[in-house]
Amino acid sequence: MIRKNGAKKGQMAENQAYIEQGELYAGYAADTDIRAHASSGGIVSAILIDLLETGRIDGALVSMIGSRDSHIRGVTERAVDRAGILQCAGSSYIETPVIGAARNLREITGRYALVGLPCQIRTLRKYLSTRPGLKEKIPYIIGLFCRGTVAGGLYDDLFLKYGIARSAVATVKVRREHIGGDLIINLADGTSRTIPFRKMNSYRIAGIHSMPRCLWCSEHLAAEADIAGGDIFTGKYRKKQIKHSAFVCWSGTGASLMEETIKKGLVTAEYFGMKRYRRTFAGIETFSNRLGPRYMAARLTGARPRGRPSAFNNIFHSLAWTIIFANNRLSRTMKGRKLLFGLPSWVIQLEAMTVKALSRIHIGGPDYK
Ligand SMILES: Cc1cc2nc3c(=O)[nH]c(=O)nc-3n(C[C@H](O)[C@H](O)[C@H](O)COP(=O)(O)OP(=O)(O)OC[C@H]3O[C@@H](n4cnc5c(N)ncnc54)[C@H](O)[C@@H]3O)c2cc1C
Ligand code: SF4
Repeated sequence: MIRKNGAKKGQMAENQAYIEQGELYAGYAADTDIRAHASSGGIVSAILIDLLETGRIDGALVSMIGSRDSHIRGVTERAVDRAGILQCAGSSYIETPVIGAARNLREITGRYALVGLPCQIRTLRKYLSTRPGLKEKIPYIIGLFCRGTVAGGLYDDLFLKYGIARSAVATVKVRREHIGGDLIINLADGTSRTIPFRKMNSYRIAGIHSMPRCLWCSEHLAAEADIAGGDIFTGKYRKKQIKHSAFVCWSGTGASLMEETIKKGLVTAEYFGMKRYRRTFAGIETFSNRLGPRYMAARLTGARPRGRPSAFNNIFHSLAWTIIFANNRLSRTMKGRKLLFGLPSWVIQLEAMTVKALSRIHIGGPDYK
């Protein structure tokens, strides 16, 4: 049941979807096949497939992990049918060339939806603001919540560690469960290998090969997208048999599109609330939104600090950022990469667990962003 702000729960009929801009909801795609391919509840892919099948777009710019010149790289594709959208469904924790793919639309006719990370959407909105012709070609922009991505080098190094030849890799899919999941490495000869997702993710959480801009990022909910989707990991949603996506409609276009998709019965939605989301995840929200604690981490690890130090700092967050900055620095040199990937993987997992535990400690205080 969707709840309008102020309305009592159960007041609205199921088919009278009302989605409030800037509010957070949880839901999932009704189609089990979409959910089987998706990262969370499949909301993003369900919207794209409906847009395509109702002729409102000619295709969608979606991304996945592929291989180029024997290196693992993010790839952005122009999907023009359901199969193409499902092939790229799921989360690809890698830098993707979304902006370049959007620019290439200048040469092509038709209307396209685009899926991107918050920073990509910020860049794209700026770019489109001076290009009205291209802006018309991209009527729907869908964002993903994001707290960090990595360069393809992480996979290059990880596969070397696991004895997988990079040149033999065709695509990599991340299959997420409620907790955990797998990295499925599809090889060019048709076979595949599997690595537990948590092993790859611990390198990402520890800051190894993270994109330099992620170290200073402070907006993670894709507020410039029409609709943004993410995970919802509260105790209640973890226990649910069907994995849910969280979603926020940031624009009127996004809200109307979502209302329509719900009314058609293609996705479900229940009110969760933005305030409640921020309260529930206060530790990680302040950790990833505020720059103050990173100042000390940057100074300690020899990185160039941005902004200015603040009077009040969450020391636990500063310690977590110090681990991230130090690992990031190491992963930018060949010697450092050899060292990090030569260590037993439990060492990196321990570092990632430490970062996670420290990041969840919320000690309040004034806004020191
Ligand atoms: C790098 C990264 C970091 C994330 N961090 C968080 C987080 O901290 N917290 C959180 O709540 N959620 C995070 N997410 C989002 C989350 O993993 C799901 O993508 C989101 O919940 C949507 O799920 P879905 O099942 O509705 O989407 P799906 O139906 O699975 O569709 C996902 C869409 O995203 C596109 N996509 C996947 N990876 C990329 C990429 N790298 N660049 C551009 N497009 C891409 C796919 O092509 C697909 O169209 C992250 C995602 C990524 C890619
Ligand atoms: S953390 Fe920020 S800068 Fe990094 S990929 Fe996500 S949105 Fe972009």
